[in-house]
Amino acid sequence: MTWTGGDLSFRLDPEDEIIGRASDEYPVKLATNSCSVGGVPGDAHPDLFAVAAWTIVAPWTRRRVCFDRAISPEVAAALHDGWGVEAGPVGAQPRRAGRTLAISYSGGADSVAAATIYPEAPFVHFRRVPHRRVPNRWPHYQSDVLAKLATATGREVTVVTSDLEFTLAEPRPGYPEHHAVAAGALLLADRLDLGGLGFGYELGSRWLGGDRYLHRYTPDNPMWAPHGAWGRLFAAAGVHIVLPVGGVSEAVTMRVALNSGLRGQVRWCLRGTDGPCRTCGKCLYKELIQAAVERRPLDTPVTADRPVARKWLAKPPYGGQEMIEYALARIPGIEDTLFAPALDYFEATEESTSWLDHCYPKAIDEIPARWREQAAAFMTAEVGFMTENEARRVETWGS
Ligand SMILES: [Zn+2]
Repeated sequence: MTWTGGDLSFRLDPEDEIIGRASDEYPVKLATNSCSVGGVPGDAHPDLFAVAAWTIVAPWTRRRVCFDRAISPEVAAALHDGWGVEAGPVGAQPRRAGRTLAISYSGGADSVAAATIYPEAPFVHFRRVPHRRVPNRWPHYQSDVLAKLATATGREVTVVTSDLEFTLAEPRPGYPEHHAVAAGALLLADRLDLGGLGFGYELGSRWLGGDRYLHRYTPDNPMWAPHGAWGRLFAAAGVHIVLPVGGVSEAVTMRVALNSGLRGQVRWCLRGTDGPCRTCGKCLYKELIQAAVERRPLDTPVTADRPVARKWLAKPPYGGQEMIEYALARIPGIEDTLFAPALDYFEATEESTSWLDHCYPKAIDEIPARWREQAAAFMTAEVGFMTENEARRVETWGS
């Protein structure tokens, strides 16, 4: 594979396949073998180029990966141990971790909550731009809005532009691996003196096998555990994965984000022209959480016959289920909404879901020492830690 400045091109080997699997086992189909990352320097440490490329090509690579410049033995070992691939050429000194923690900033509630814990942390914001050879069938996605909102936060913001999501043909443009959102931040790591990159992944994603993963307790989550394949690879390149809100639910991140100074910049939907569209699946899910947090009736134009409602009315288990339970127990009049049928699947009460109001202590323990105390102090002051019984709810999830 070859980097020319921020332009990446790669060639698959004969054993590689265009339908690959991301680290969460989700099948992804390759659309094109080139992409570019804009707003990054051309002279980053070779390990940073290698790890950035790996966030894009990992799903389709089976046995070996050949970079255009020598990498450190540490990064080669992390690729071998994590994925069983032979990586080379080997011959660079490892990169030392820098002193700065940056936040990979998306503008969503989880990301804003992570940013709130570290008020001094700079932001790196990933902005999707069209690919020069792949038609863009998703023009409603207004990535410029988010970039403007990120700038409006008053933080130090570096906007990275990239078309790397168009390397993915199916299910739709998106990150080949979740970690591809960090490709630009990795290439900026020397310039920003990065030693850590904070993501907004919360309790569900880190510990409950949420989103499209396993839907059970996952202490060894390969995407987000520090000792997982990706955690070790990033660490080998001197950029530790940090999950400031990895111990709290989306109810807590919503509350923290809406109570923060960044409230005006929170935006989880890019379909509406002036604010969230209110009709997509994400808007429905976030409205459910927000209504529960604010203890008010549900306010949505979505009706039960809409396809976007289907996922949340299906038989469990599914990703985000813990928040459905939380919301069913708290939203006044939920039995008169489209969520009424879901009441049959759960016996959720405020007590049985109170663990979702607190922080799972092990999530703080795995934050690198340099940044741990600040997160611990925030959780103590603003959230509170789970009791042993509450932590057991995390550790028996899905079993
Ligand atoms: Zn929406």
